[in-house]
Amino acid sequence: MTSEAAYTELIRRSKEAAVLSSCGAVLGWDERTYMPHNASEFRGEQMALLARMTHEMTTDPKVGECLATLGDSSLAKDSPEAINVREIRRAYDRAVKLPKELVEEIARVSTRAQQVWQEARSKNDFPAFQPWLEKIVTLKRREADAVGFKEHPYDALLDEYEPGATAAQVRVVFASLSAELVPLIAAIGQSKRRPKREILEREYPVEAQQAFAKAAATAIGFDFQAGRLDVTTHPFCSGIGPGDCRITTRYNPRFFNEAFFGVLHEAGHGIYEQGLPSEHFGTPLGSYCSLGIHESQSRLWENQVGRGRTFWEHFYPKARQAFPSALGDVPLDDFYFAINEARPSLIRVEADEATYNLHIILRFEMELALLSGDLKPADVPGAWNERFQKMFGLTPPDDRQGCLQDIHWSMGGLGYFPTYTLGNLYAAQLMNASKSQLQGLETDFAQGEFGRLKNWLNEKVHKPGRSCRSDELCQRITGEGLRHEPLVAYLRTKFGDLYDL
Ligand code: ZN
Repeated sequence: MTSEAAYTELIRRSKEAAVLSSCGAVLGWDERTYMPHNASEFRGEQMALLARMTHEMTTDPKVGECLATLGDSSLAKDSPEAINVREIRRAYDRAVKLPKELVEEIARVSTRAQQVWQEARSKNDFPAFQPWLEKIVTLKRREADAVGFKEHPYDALLDEYEPGATAAQVRVVFASLSAELVPLIAAIGQSKRRPKREILEREYPVEAQQAFAKAAATAIGFDFQAGRLDVTTHPFCSGIGPGDCRITTRYNPRFFNEAFFGVLHEAGHGIYEQGLPSEHFGTPLGSYCSLGIHESQSRLWENQVGRGRTFWEHFYPKARQAFPSALGDVPLDDFYFAINEARPSLIRVEADEATYNLHIILRFEMELALLSGDLKPADVPGAWNERFQKMFGLTPPDDRQGCLQDIHWSMGGLGYFPTYTLGNLYAAQLMNASKSQLQGLETDFAQGEFGRLKNWLNEKVHKPGRSCRSDELCQRITGEGLRHEPLVAYLRTKFGDLYDL
């Protein structure tokens, strides 16, 4: 086989596996939106078959042969071909290092653990979940050992979500971030100013919310000719393939924030998916860079833009038209303060921009300790509550509102949490860069114009696909790698103004 033939074959296989896996994505979307209740067992069979076939295709020895033929030196460094080969090799190497028996065991245990977790959470029964958490930690530790790592087993798991990032790197950035956030949040807590939260808990008819959120998603650049918005209990974005990106939300008729900011968040993910170069679909060049970068796109639109003052200068008059009985008597400043309320709270998914990252840092520290063996699963509730008190000045009244609140551990997703805060950090860095490279962006927003920012993100963040690591992408765009200072400065300015600090 010539190296040209090997490359052609490698790409053909990569695209075919992606097409197959996208069929699973359509079924997964359907499962969470419109599938009838009784179909769940059969859907499980369909999904398992597709997952197995995709896995077989990506780990086929033929892929290994192509990679061996291509070697390291046959392609010009950093050429598109070299990037594709490098990334396919990386995924292949990881996949073949994992014994089939371990992969199947993780799939089996995490399916069951999710069911147990759901019940344990609703009954506030940590002891019921504990043996499953033990199994998960042991299996993920075995996974880390099989994949291999230099310093900490966590590196092997984090690398799957945030290629190239290490626990040590994240630990340094998170420690600096936490040192700045804890006093900022304490100062907010002591401020005499309080927003009128009640404004957001008035009557917000679902149809009006739907139309309003859809209009905002369209305005920021989500293409409804190439996407849909539907309803689910747990909102998500699924980039199925070129021309097809599905986002979902849930509507609460008595709370404005939930659906609206949820839609902006998922639309941000969707704009990224829609902005990936479709000609490279199914290859690394057409894939997202990392989960941290993915999350930076959702947080940028949701928070940096969507919770900003200028955004609402444009949208608030429209909001008053859409919800006349709820907002007719509310001045813009009161609304703006209400949607930006900050206060320590127990639940991560309900947290504001300032406190959110502390929730992540807490989970990151616990995961490190679980994997290294310093923390036993049995001691998780006590350790959680102790840390929570230290960071937030609150103690969860029960485990349901403490260590049992998130699905991630039951899914085997150790190593996933940091990507949320990496997203917030990158979002702040990217927003700064866009503002310095594009003059007058805030004026655009006040006029309901988001095209210049969206095009800039398309060019700088979306088009490169997975051609480099997240830290390097940030470096290329902003001139600096991952840093905590831009996010801290942004939060200080914003909440300093709101709470008169
Ligand atoms: Zn997200």
